[in-house]
Amino acid sequence: MTRPFVHTGQPGRVVFGAGTVRSVAAELEALGVSRAAIVTTPGQARLGNEIAGHAGQRGVGVLPLAVMHVPVEIAAEAVTQATRLGADGLVAAGGGSAIGLAKAVALATGLPLLAIPTTYSGSEMTSNVGTTDGGEKRIVSDAKMRPRTVIYDPELTYGLPVAVSMTSGMNGMAHAVEALYAREANPLTSLMAEEAIRALAQGLPAVHAAARNAEGRAACLYGAWLSGAVLAHVGMALHHKLCHVLGGSFGLPHAETHTVVLPHAVAYTRPAAEMELRRADQALGGDAATALFELTGRLGTPRALRDIGMRETDLDRAADLAAASPYWNPRPVARAGIRALLDNAYFGRRPTA
Ligand code: NAD
Repeated sequence: MTRPFVHTGQPGRVVFGAGTVRSVAAELEALGVSRAAIVTTPGQARLGNEIAGHAGQRGVGVLPLAVMHVPVEIAAEAVTQATRLGADGLVAAGGGSAIGLAKAVALATGLPLLAIPTTYSGSEMTSNVGTTDGGEKRIVSDAKMRPRTVIYDPELTYGLPVAVSMTSGMNGMAHAVEALYAREANPLTSLMAEEAIRALAQGLPAVHAAARNAEGRAACLYGAWLSGAVLAHVGMALHHKLCHVLGGSFGLPHAETHTVVLPHAVAYTRPAAEMELRRADQALGGDAATALFELTGRLGTPRALRDIGMRETDLDRAADLAAASPYWNPRPVARAGIRALLDNAYFGRRPTA
């Protein structure tokens, strides 16, 4: 039986398909933008210039300033440069770091944002950003930052290194899996989440086998869109809390941490989310936690926290932090259970409830 639910639609235009980056001038025109500043990372400056070329007279300059975690000084510099250029709109080109910086500029200036994502992080669908000030991370949420238009062009992801693609895809996978048992889950988000899991589970092995596999790349980006969209609609639970603790307090890398923790968070939560996780079982072809663990094995990603910079002596403190201010989770967060979960994740053991 369908339970009562609330769904708030998030407005936004999505243009998906190989070669769609060439529609950027038309999409900017539809947004009423005639002077767009293009925000990207130094490593993707060439992509920024290419997009400026496609934008034609509607592109006024490239700001290749983005780095991980949006330091506030960089955001201030990007605002200064965008203002100096007389920009009346922004294009974010790249992964979560480029999109995060463009969001911070959109928040400060109120300029409309068009995003062209090149990873599977899903940030382009949400209205929040994590900025850092003197090493402290702060999450800000404001609808002004949600991109009005998103262009998903799988061809732009062909050059994303395979190892990065795998962990980035598992980052997207985590948004979708956790959305199934989120408190705000509804029939629409659950449908989208299941489809996201299926698309990523098909796409990632294909890209692992051949980085430029067109179908695989399209499936991954399609899954990333859906998983970002559900992330924008529902609150997150235990898995995301653990990743925020491990990234925020111990400096572990974002996508790799999601990849390692996900099977364990799912196994822990399963006893209280049996029905919700059946959609994940179906999409993955077996018990979700085990299937995710095995998928990471096939994709050659890290599987153990000890391999991505965690110290065994920090596990107790990580468990304390996660249990002290937990996010809502279907299975309540108990310190002893979390410590055991972290132990399994640390050594890369198979997940257990
Ligand atoms: P990233 O944006 O830092 O990209 C990693 C590296 O890959 C960068 O050097 C980038 O230049 C390069 N790169 C990106 N796309 C490429 C491509 N197609 N080809 C070649 N190189 C490419 O990594 P990410 O995982 O996309 O983003 C992580 C950040 O996003 C974190 O700071 C995280 O907190 C944030 N994030 C935010 C949200 C949100 O909703 N606000 C959601 C997910 C992630």
